[in-house]
Amino acid sequence: MPEHRPQAVGRDLFLSDDRPMDTNTLFTMALGLQAPWEVKNLHFDGETRRLDIEIDFTRGATFPCPVCGVPSKVHDTEEKTWRHLDFFQHSAHLTARVPRCTCGAHGVKQVQVPWARPGSGFTLLFEALAMMLMQSMPVASAAKIVGEYDGRLWRVLHHYIDEARAKVDMSKVTRIGVDETAAKRGHNYITLAMDMDLRRLLFATEGKGAETLKAFKADLIAHGGKPENVEEASLDMSKAFIKGLREHFPNGHLTFDRFHVMKLVNEGLDQVRREESKDRSELKKSRYVWLKNRSNLNSSQEAMLHDLGSANLLTAEAYRMKVTLQDFYEQPNPRAARQFLSEWCEMVRESALEPMQKVAKALQDHTEGILRWFTSGLANGLLEGINSLLQAAKSKARGYRTYRNLIAIAYLIAGKLDFNLATF
Ligand SMILES: [Zn+2]
Repeated sequence: MPEHRPQAVGRDLFLSDDRPMDTNTLFTMALGLQAPWEVKNLHFDGETRRLDIEIDFTRGATFPCPVCGVPSKVHDTEEKTWRHLDFFQHSAHLTARVPRCTCGAHGVKQVQVPWARPGSGFTLLFEALAMMLMQSMPVASAAKIVGEYDGRLWRVLHHYIDEARAKVDMSKVTRIGVDETAAKRGHNYITLAMDMDLRRLLFATEGKGAETLKAFKADLIAHGGKPENVEEASLDMSKAFIKGLREHFPNGHLTFDRFHVMKLVNEGLDQVRREESKDRSELKKSRYVWLKNRSNLNSSQEAMLHDLGSANLLTAEAYRMKVTLQDFYEQPNPRAARQFLSEWCEMVRESALEPMQKVAKALQDHTEGILRWFTSGLANGLLEGINSLLQAAKSKARGYRTYRNLIAIAYLIAGKLDFNLATF
């Protein structure tokens, strides 16, 4: 086989063996078409900025049966068109008569064309480009760039997500993290389940509660995983998640991680502040001063904390409780930590701060899970990170119309999926 490398000489193109090359051959080669497929016709319309490339197969060609691969004769054909990568600034479209073949064993079957997947109006290369764009910008923006309706790009995205997820192997999953994230305004959530070791999103579903863990279990099994192999699980302290875990992952030890513990304490602290600020107006704009980590305060916030902290305020007392609890995580071993937590709860119970007493009660009720951190080391920071990426994507996209779309974006961001896209 001579090498068909085109070279421009003057006005004409030549093959490497000096035979002149016509434009159909050029496009056949540029598209990477293999016999029996070749470019038969080109139609260029400068006004509509559109290039149409007509592809056809050579007369008498046979095609492999899509089921068994045996060469089969053409039964009939159906004309189809696919959007391809742009030709310079012009949109390019491929049109071909797609044959149906007659296989002795399998009857009449639609032949698969090498440049597109069944049912798509785009070529594989166009889809690869669209997927690249959608990984770095909202779907609507990607749609605008390529000049398509975003609904068509969503369909492409869903196809590749579903296809890639079908291949995910969950057989080695032993440590999981589960958390919910806001889906739309109001009380709509999706639940995310992560593999804490591979740091990837395994499963996302609508809702938040025990039934989401049931759905995750089914999905895990469908991907070769074993629920009984799940030994560690990081959760928030919601009753529904705890119930779901016990029911569906009975060998999973619960860890209530630091993030959720401190979140609870911050909620108690803020409630004390809100009640007290009715009488003490200096507390009105101090919310973040109490809730933020001290290292994140700017100098005026630091000064405010210093002044309010030394005043005779219930909020300042609650704040000191929070700061003390942070030392829990510095304890050298679970035994010391258990002692520390018990003393902290005792101290809070003796205070007059009802919201903090409720926090102490909750921590006491969940002591085993909170202490489990010293063994499992699980922290939901990973989930919180994904949460904030997802929320950022959501606000950039000005929300998603459906749960399915939001979930697809979650997989796109955190699923570490292998899309097996066509390469340029
Ligand atoms: Zn067959």
